[in-house]
Amino acid sequence: MIKPLLAIVTSILLFSSKEKTPVDLIIQHGTIYTVDSALSVAEAMAVIDGKIVAVGSDAAISETYLAKETIDAKGQFVYPGFIDAHAHFTGYGLGLQTIDLVGTESWEDILHRLNDQGKSTDSSSWLIGRGWDQNDWPVKEFPGKGKLDSMFPHRPVFLTRVDGHAAIANQAALDRSGVKAGYTLSGGQVETKNGQLTGILIDNAVALVRKNIPPVSITQFKQALLQAQENCFAVGLTTVDDCGLDYETILAIDSLQKTGELKMRIYAMLSDNKKNFDFILPKGKIKTDLLNVRSFKVYADGALGSRGACLLQPYTDKPGWTGFLLSSAAHFDSVAGILQKLGLQMCTHAIGDSGNRVILQIYARHLQGKNDLRWRIEHAQVINKNDFKLFGENNIVPSVQPTHATSDMYWATDRLGKERVKGAYAYHDLLNQNGWLPLGTDFPVEDISPFKTFYAAVIRKDAKGFPENGFQVKNALSRTDALRGMTIWAAKANFEETEKGSLEKGKFADFIILDQNIMKTDPAKILQTQVIATFVNGREVYKKQ
Ligand SMILES: [Zn+2]
Repeated sequence: MIKPLLAIVTSILLFSSKEKTPVDLIIQHGTIYTVDSALSVAEAMAVIDGKIVAVGSDAAISETYLAKETIDAKGQFVYPGFIDAHAHFTGYGLGLQTIDLVGTESWEDILHRLNDQGKSTDSSSWLIGRGWDQNDWPVKEFPGKGKLDSMFPHRPVFLTRVDGHAAIANQAALDRSGVKAGYTLSGGQVETKNGQLTGILIDNAVALVRKNIPPVSITQFKQALLQAQENCFAVGLTTVDDCGLDYETILAIDSLQKTGELKMRIYAMLSDNKKNFDFILPKGKIKTDLLNVRSFKVYADGALGSRGACLLQPYTDKPGWTGFLLSSAAHFDSVAGILQKLGLQMCTHAIGDSGNRVILQIYARHLQGKNDLRWRIEHAQVINKNDFKLFGENNIVPSVQPTHATSDMYWATDRLGKERVKGAYAYHDLLNQNGWLPLGTDFPVEDISPFKTFYAAVIRKDAKGFPENGFQVKNALSRTDALRGMTIWAAKANFEETEKGSLEKGKFADFIILDQNIMKTDPAKILQTQVIATFVNGREVYKKQ
C-alpha cells in the first residue's frame, strides 16, 4: 500500500512544481464569446504583450499560466471589442464641439437653442450646428433662413442636416462664401424660392459654405478625438472605420496614436481628391497596430432623406425627380482603374438603386468575377432586385448600417413606394450574396451605440419599440450573424481578420465585458445592456463607474 501512495504524492509534487508560463493578464470565470469559426464559448483567457496567448476553461488556463493581474469576470459576458465598419469618428468628435441639433422637434426649437448658445459664445465666430432632421418636425419641409438673418445679421450660421447631405446657412455665411441666387453646380443644389436664396444647400453645395469655416486648432482637434474615443470606449467600440478623411487629418491621428493618447484603432479611408492620391501614390499603404490606410471613400450619390439618392425611377413623393449622381460615371470608372492598379480598396457610398447599379457595374467591369479585393459599397441601401447578384458574382462587399433601416422606415415607403422599398435595407438578402456582411452605424448620422445596431439588425425595431412586428423582418439577421457583423466580418472588411474581430490565440486582446448576454437576453432588454469594461491591447480603457 505504501508504494502507490508515495507515487501519487510524488506526482502531485512534480505536477505542482511544473513551471507556469508568466502572462500579464488572465480573465477568468467569464462567459467568453470567442466569435471563432465555431462560435465557441470559453471561461478564461490569458494575455501577454497585448495579445491573446490562450483561451479555454478556468482550469486549463490557471494550470498553465501565472498572471501579474487576474480579473474575475464573475460570470459576466465577454465579447471581442466591437468594430464599427462605417463611421465618421473625427467628424463625430468635432461635432461634439458644435451645437447638437439631433432630436430637435421643430425649426423654432432650433432657433431657441441657437439663441441660448449664441449668447454664450464669442459673437465674432461662426455658429455651427449639426443634426437637424425636418422629417421629425410637425412641418416636414426644409426651413428657410429668414429668422436666422434677423437673429444673426452679421454672425455666420451654418447648420447641417443629420445626414450631412444638406445644410442651412444664413446670409452672413452665404456672403462670406460668395454664394448668390442662381448659383449652379454639378451634383448639388443651391435652393431658391421666387428667385431668393432660402439658405438650403444640398449635397455638393454644402461644401461651398463649409470650406469657409475657419479650421479648428490642434488643441481643439485633439480634444475632439479624445472625447470621441472616450464615448466610443464606453459603448464597447475598440476599432472604428473613419470614412473619408484628408491625409493631413490621418497624419494628425497617427501622431496622436504614437504619443499614446489616442488608443482607438482606426481604419481610415481617404477622401476622393487629388491631394490624397498624390499623398498615397509614392507612399503606398500605411499600417501600424492602431492605423490602417489602404482605401478610398468615394460618393456615388446623396441621401434618401434629402432626396439626393439617385433612383432608377422617380421618387414616389416627388414626381419627375430621380435625384442625381455626385460625379460622372466616367469619374468613378477612372478612380476604380487607379485603385485597382495600386491594389487599394474602393469604398463607395451608394444609396439609390441607380447609384448602386452604376457602381456595381463599374466594380464588376474592373473586378471581373471572383476576387479578394473586398471592394465595398457603403450603405447599399436601395437595390434593384436584378442587381443583388452582382455583389456575389464579383465579391463586392455591402457595408450596411442597421439603424438606418429603423430611422428611415417612417418615410422610406413615401420616397420609394411599396414595391421598391422591399429591396431597401435588405440585409439578409445582402448577407446571402457573399456569406458575410460588415455592420456599422454611420455615426454621427446615427447614435454611436453598437447595441442599437444589434437590436435594429436582429429585431428590426427602433429604440421606441416601433413597429410592433418589426420593419421588413424577412431581412432581419440572426443574433450570431449580427455579432459576427460587428466583430469578425467588420474586421474582414478592413483586411484585419487575422489580427482582431475574435478572441483567439495570436490576436489583439481587444475585448469588452457586458452585464448581460446579448446572444440570449430577452429582446426587450438588449438596449439596456451596459458595458462593464473595455480593453484595448490587454489594457483597460474604460470601466463603468
Ligand atoms: Zn457615412
